[in-house]
Amino acid sequence: MTVKKAISHIDLLIQDKHDLKMKMIGPVLPLPIPGDLVNRFDRAMGSMLETDIEWLQSIKRQLLPEQHRTKIVCKHPKKDHDVDPNGQKYCTGCNANL
Ligand SMILES: [Zn+2]
Repeated sequence: MTVKKAISHIDLLIQDKHDLKMKMIGPVLPLPIPGDLVNRFDRAMGSMLETDIEWLQSIKRQLLPEQHRTKIVCKHPKKDHDVDPNGQKYCTGCNANL
């Protein structure tokens, strides 16, 4: 899997979790209502989804520098280069798109 593909999968996951949170909870967590079990469940669910989104964004940031931020030039030999099913050339050594 190329880094680009991994990032697009992560983007889909982030979007999915964001949509679920908006459908079930809304943009902000509801204020706590003592003794209300549904409220407690909503708050727990919302905070779980927010944590998942933060983790996925953090993983995405870790993947980005390889290609976009530091502009590392692949120094692996040509024999390590391959083409993915979409025709994108990439390095099997460092996963950078070429
Ligand atoms: Zn490489």
